[in-house]
Amino acid sequence: MAGTWIEVDLDCLTENYQEVVKHLRPGSRCMAVVKADAYGLGAIEVARSLQRAGCEAFAVTRVEEGLILREHGIEGLILVLGPTMREEWPIAIAAKLQLTISELSWIEELNETGLKLGLEFDQQIQVHLKLETGMGRTGFRFSELEELSIALSKSNYLHVAGVYTHFARAAQRDKRNTIEQYECFKSLTNRLEELGIRPTWKHVCNSAAFLDYPEWHHDFVRIGTLLIGHYPGQGFSDKLNLRDPWLAKSRIVHLREVPKGTYVGYQSIYHTKQATQLAVIPVGYSDGFGVAPHFVPQGWIDFFKIIIKNFLALLGITVGQERLELNGRTVHVAGKIGMQLTVLDVGMQECALGDEIRVPMRRTVANPRIPRRYRQGGQILSQRILKEGVLLEHQEYSILGYEKLASPEV
Ligand SMILES: *Cc1c(COP(=O)(O)O)cnc(C)c1O
Repeated sequence: MAGTWIEVDLDCLTENYQEVVKHLRPGSRCMAVVKADAYGLGAIEVARSLQRAGCEAFAVTRVEEGLILREHGIEGLILVLGPTMREEWPIAIAAKLQLTISELSWIEELNETGLKLGLEFDQQIQVHLKLETGMGRTGFRFSELEELSIALSKSNYLHVAGVYTHFARAAQRDKRNTIEQYECFKSLTNRLEELGIRPTWKHVCNSAAFLDYPEWHHDFVRIGTLLIGHYPGQGFSDKLNLRDPWLAKSRIVHLREVPKGTYVGYQSIYHTKQATQLAVIPVGYSDGFGVAPHFVPQGWIDFFKIIIKNFLALLGITVGQERLELNGRTVHVAGKIGMQLTVLDVGMQECALGDEIRVPMRRTVANPRIPRRYRQGGQILSQRILKEGVLLEHQEYSILGYEKLASPEV
């Protein structure tokens, strides 16, 4: 039995999907973005349950992510959003993954790959053109379009299924940049049309743009954040009714009463202010606990927030992330979070070895080796265990087997 695990409620997930679908413009479809292991929830189970809910299109960043989905029964469209390597093309084509093209030189080379593979005409390689409109990452700019169209006209093995772009600041309050990006997208696609390139589909919206601009839904919207029950930023939460399917938990594996003045953890930065209990849970920063992306202040208010947060941390007061819950009460991390162990100061409340603690964790950095347990109809029916990156078990639990895993309803 794992000391730390993550519960994912698949019912919440499919309800979130239905919420998104309800708000789609007629003619548009939801492409579920399940990159990065479905934002940490587990790509296989997430995609399977969305497929059962009627989802027919998925997006990932890398070829290997798409292959895993195919191997596990995902049948619809799978678009690889990121740049790909030549060596991956044959297997990606065999698995019918749709590829994003953002480099001119790939067109001729990909076409040659199609030729070498001896593809029939009805097996054309489905590609999406990525247009650069302000993200500054990947995609074609205006000046490249003519050459692009010439290359495409010579490439019988490619079919331009889609054209798309990605917004850099759609979740921000100031919408000017997003509108500029959309205008840029329009002029690029108009130019493509003049050059005789008419992709079957257009898609531009991520979660934030989907909520703000129904008129931009086009043929697909690419949704990740909303499906996993999050809002892309402040000011979006009144637009949809979402539930969070995620819950990370750990168990107390060591418990001691200690006197006032006991030092805890590396560098002894923490000491107890009174007699208390120290509880150890088997989770640490290598699991993704207490790990946050590097935060660049976006203005002076942000800057002062960071300073104050760090100042409070120096005084031993943690803000936000590291608040955990034991039997409905908040408990705090004592001292530094270790690689795989963390000490909590749980006060004198009644608790015991084996008690469950709710652990806040940033889902996209939660280690894939932490077992994911999938809840459906209020019960945990399956779990995923990864060891050294290899999928060892993807077992369905019988209801009886579930007894041992029982945990309070959330
Ligand atoms: C991640 C990603 C999305 C999904 O964005 P959310 O805001 O999480 O919905 C859409 N498009 C591209 C290209 C992405 O990389």
